[in-house]
Amino acid sequence: MLGVAEAPSGAPTKRLAGGWLSDLAELGKAIVLCSDCERKWDPKNYGYVMSPLWKGQDFVTGDCDACGEKGINRHLFTKVQQE
Ligand SMILES: [Zn+2]
Repeated sequence: MLGVAEAPSGAPTKRLAGGWLSDLAELGKAIVLCSDCERKWDPKNYGYVMSPLWKGQDFVTGDCDACGEKGINRHLFTKVQQE
């Protein structure tokens, strides 16, 4: 458990407590999150979407990039390409 407080609603924050996901987002890395961490992170704030590559097969296996928990049925998030 991370003990990360939810951001107050109506007060959008650009940084998750800890900032590690922000660092990944800055680099445009693909991000894998477990369901708990997914609820604490708003991909839209970082220009991320749940990866369309995985539509219909939208789960991946891997460590959560936020808490490091190993597992299956993760969602993959990727940076939206700005053209
Ligand atoms: Zn997690």
